[in-house]
Amino acid sequence: MQNIYGYTKEMLSDYFVNMGEKSFKATQVFEWLYQKRVSSFNEMTNIKKDVIEKLEKDFNTQMIKIVKKLETNDTHKYLFELSDKNYIEAVVMDHDYGSSVCVSSEVGCNMGCAFCESGRLKKQRNLETYEMVEQILLIEKDLNIRISSVVIMGIGEPFDNYDNVIKFLYIINDAKGLAIGSRHITVSTCGLVPKILEFANFPLQVNLAVSLHAAYDDLRDKLMPVNKVYKINELIAAIKEYYKKTNRRVTIEYVMLDSVNDSLDDAKKLVNLLKGLNVYVNLIPYNKTNTLNFKKTSKDRVLKFGKYLQDNNITVTIRKEFGKEIQAACGQLRSKEVRI
Ligand code: SAH
Repeated sequence: MQNIYGYTKEMLSDYFVNMGEKSFKATQVFEWLYQKRVSSFNEMTNIKKDVIEKLEKDFNTQMIKIVKKLETNDTHKYLFELSDKNYIEAVVMDHDYGSSVCVSSEVGCNMGCAFCESGRLKKQRNLETYEMVEQILLIEKDLNIRISSVVIMGIGEPFDNYDNVIKFLYIINDAKGLAIGSRHITVSTCGLVPKILEFANFPLQVNLAVSLHAAYDDLRDKLMPVNKVYKINELIAAIKEYYKKTNRRVTIEYVMLDSVNDSLDDAKKLVNLLKGLNVYVNLIPYNKTNTLNFKKTSKDRVLKFGKYLQDNNITVTIRKEFGKEIQAACGQLRSKEVRI
């Protein structure tokens, strides 16, 4: 039995065609699930009884569970329990333009970034597509809001769970699904080069962010073990290729770690590396964790670093901080709850 929330409209449409039904039934089911938010098949009143019986036999609508919620005035952090008792997190941030949600893509993570709490639990398994979709459905219900943008920046490396993430993107972007505009969706990767190249052929106009965090291999090797496999020059080449194919500017994420990657010399190296590339740089204030020994760069120093990039014609944004009080950085809540 499959969970219905893991099915894209196209998969559902194939399912109906295979049983000799019209493909538009998929649209009707999507409308019930995502617009009317009905979760039992027998409430889908415009669908014939025999088809409903078949749906009930083939699909379930089981939900993951919210087991904890921490909130400040503009941040809501959720801990979810999956049916196999694994835990994942999602964070909602209220902006003046709407609410964005940061979803998890895996249970744990194998990328082993030195400054990241999520990776302290090695990857246990991929998240199924329905487990990603349900993070959003449950949050929308709990807060009684519609989410306006989605970032895949929670626990996990989305490109290490590529196929499920792609299905998730189709479902949340579908006009009959969660109808979140592609430009309001961002996938963030630590730099799995072959997947960046594959993603260049993905038809939806979603945003890609790449976690760089260091402008030279020696340092990036230490901070992000993935760099031992895909060196910075290969990563930059992939970003160029991605831009050539999609014409979409990539966001370069750079977490500011005190005395590690935040000097003027680091800024110079970054400028040289990114020269001529059509990218944005997003400077991320480090979210201090209880267990890891990195320190946050002072605001002053972040501004200086940013100004240097800007003076050298690189578009820079500094990420607004949310949820410091509730340990909203990826992996922090799970890690507090579950001893590893
Ligand atoms: N695996 C993906 C997505 C998850 S992490 C990736 O690496 O991009 C999302 C972003 O948060 C990444 O840029 C990651 O490096 C960063 N990050 C991890 N821990 C952090 C912390 N404690 N404070 C600030 N940013 C952090």
